[in-house]
Amino acid sequence: MKKYSGNPVSPGIAFGKALVYLDNNTSEIPCYSIQKNQLDAEWNRYLSANNEAIEELKALNAQAKRDMSNEDAGIFEAHLMMLEDTEFQGQIKGRLETSLQNIEWVIRDISHEISAMLMASLDTYLQERTVDVVDVLRRLMNKLLHVQRVSLADLSEDVILVCHELLPSDALTMNKARVKAIVMDMGGATSHTAILARAFEIPALAGLSSASEEINTGDMLIVNGVSGELIVNPEKSVQTMAEHEWKRYYKRLGELGELRGLPAETRDGYRVSLKANIEISEEAEATLRAGCDGIGLYRSEFLFLAAGRLTDEEEQFKAYSHVLKTMGNLPVTLRTADAGGDKLLPELGLSDERNPLLGWRAIRFSLSRPEILKTQLRAMLRAGVSGNLRIMFPMISGIEELEQALAVLEEAKSELRKQGKVFAEAVPVGIMIEIPSAALTADILAEKSDFFSIGTNDLVQYTIAVDRGNEKVSYLAQPFHPAILRSLKRIIDAAHEKGITAAMCGEMAGNASFTALLLGLGLDEFSMNVPAIPHVKQVIRSVTKESCGRLAKNALGCTSYRDVSSLVEDWTRSELDISYLSGGL
Ligand code: PEP
Ligand code: MG
Repeated sequence: MKKYSGNPVSPGIAFGKALVYLDNNTSEIPCYSIQKNQLDAEWNRYLSANNEAIEELKALNAQAKRDMSNEDAGIFEAHLMMLEDTEFQGQIKGRLETSLQNIEWVIRDISHEISAMLMASLDTYLQERTVDVVDVLRRLMNKLLHVQRVSLADLSEDVILVCHELLPSDALTMNKARVKAIVMDMGGATSHTAILARAFEIPALAGLSSASEEINTGDMLIVNGVSGELIVNPEKSVQTMAEHEWKRYYKRLGELGELRGLPAETRDGYRVSLKANIEISEEAEATLRAGCDGIGLYRSEFLFLAAGRLTDEEEQFKAYSHVLKTMGNLPVTLRTADAGGDKLLPELGLSDERNPLLGWRAIRFSLSRPEILKTQLRAMLRAGVSGNLRIMFPMISGIEELEQALAVLEEAKSELRKQGKVFAEAVPVGIMIEIPSAALTADILAEKSDFFSIGTNDLVQYTIAVDRGNEKVSYLAQPFHPAILRSLKRIIDAAHEKGITAAMCGEMAGNASFTALLLGLGLDEFSMNVPAIPHVKQVIRSVTKESCGRLAKNALGCTSYRDVSSLVEDWTRSELDISYLSGGL
């Protein structure tokens, strides 16, 4: 028996047999020199393999467009663009002529070089694109070598996929009903595969370094996508314990499922709204199954990240319309792109920032490229006729930025009007409150906002000056810090004084340990990842607003996050069954 600890990127618990899915072809790549008079023949071999790969990708793309959301299909389009890129072809030809090596070896060299360059980048997004380059070039190599790819689409028995890094096209085309979990050596929560695993509700672990070399096909595995634990060939007693845990986890999910149709209302009748955060439009169906009150945050920048490029107005329109139509009358909050920071697209030139988290990001970027913002807003407004749309601007730091963003929105509307396009005229427009300057001027911002949504991930980061991605200082990122509690109170009170809704879409909203305190502070709306919804709903339905109000008052009197934390723990122990707060969060 062996245990590993990984990064849980998609929740759930699974047991099963490992299928080690590795790209072994690289060891069989032939290497030989060629003569100048063989160059044409070698180049023609490349051209015909490239054409075959392009045809295969076109077929996959067409199928993906039928079966999947637009943004997922965009992955194949990005791969196609690479194979069709004449500059890239020129690079291959140049290398073939100078190296006088067989074309397979040339492709192998270029693949290694591009991968090494992307991996060496400090930019996580670029690092994660390595997988796309490897995917495309492996497809090309297979055509050259006439190798038939093992198809995950044809899986006929249940497996746990173990891989160094699962390629996005494999994740999109695999037989999802047969894949019980995914275990990867590489990858982070923003990798395509992690995003897709969450969307497909398949438990997944990433960051297991060399697990794929140590695990064999057929090994028995236990994957815990909540704790991050992976157990290989468990002893009988561990297997029995894990089965027990599995039963408990799914029984609890089942019980929580019974809350689906019930309102998020406290015992004394205080009703709040529970909404979902989504990254890709395909997740909309899952939010409906979870019984939420709408979508409180659609991170539209993922549309660009998944496609690997800026998508045009029509593509965006389709993705937004899909979500709005799926949700029917339930409100859908589309956030304009929060590009920058850790979410980079090479073509936007955002990767040279010296201090990206304090730099050219979110609304700052959008306002400096108003044509990109306007395209987004046009697509959103047009899609708005299919449902109940709300628009939200990220990272507003003060009233000037809000006024500028609203002006671009007006321009988008007047363009659409002139062009006679159908669009939603009266759309509530809100802002994220995630910068201390916005929290401190919430009363001013509330004058021009229809709602607030508090982004605690960034609010904690900027208030306590703690990089949210830096493990060395993560102990400082305490939502219970008195500075955060005071900010939250100020923001919520300012919203209520102006008669607007105070929502929260940062991770704090989806952590049931904070629910009672947030209720006590008067939060109206909680938006979170879909699996967290029933956990938070259960806490809400178990408490009274009155008691939560007392808890919040006492918490605001504390002088340290430790004191707030102990206070909340004691309160929880006395008011709630503590097991409510464990598991699945
Ligand atoms: C936040 O900052 O809390 C938030 C929801 O936005 P993001 O995580 O996308 O920065
Ligand atoms: Mg944010």
